[in-house]
Amino acid sequence: MEDVKEIKKDKIAIVACSGASNTGQITNEVAKNLCKDAENFTMVCLAALPLGARTAMDKIENAKKIIVVDGCPIKCASQLKYTDKKPDIAFQIMEDYGVKKVSDPNAVDLEEVDKITKDVLAKIKNLSN
Ligand code: SF4
Repeated sequence: MEDVKEIKKDKIAIVACSGASNTGQITNEVAKNLCKDAENFTMVCLAALPLGARTAMDKIENAKKIIVVDGCPIKCASQLKYTDKKPDIAFQIMEDYGVKKVSDPNAVDLEEVDKITKDVLAKIKNLSN
């Protein structure tokens, strides 16, 4: 059986705000889409980071890149302190993609999610070059 630490090493860590709104849930869907490529991406529990939970902290510590996706200008995911690490790129759904925030977390357009996922992925690839 593979060592758990080994599995987590050198992946791109995705921290999504996963907030209680359409834009918050878009961040969650984008993170889920990216994590379909489980070889390269791993999603980190945002709520576990301020608690210093080991699995979440290990993912951040071992990540080759850290990507943050926030749903609105409050930027809950971006403002967290990840030990001494900083996000390599941060996205904000309203500002970067022009999505209007509404409080309904089900008001998510999956075509929009796919478009945003592709753009996020392209920017991550550019970062790696
Ligand atoms: S960034 Fe905005 S949408 Fe996301 S959890 Fe914070 S307040 Fe909610």
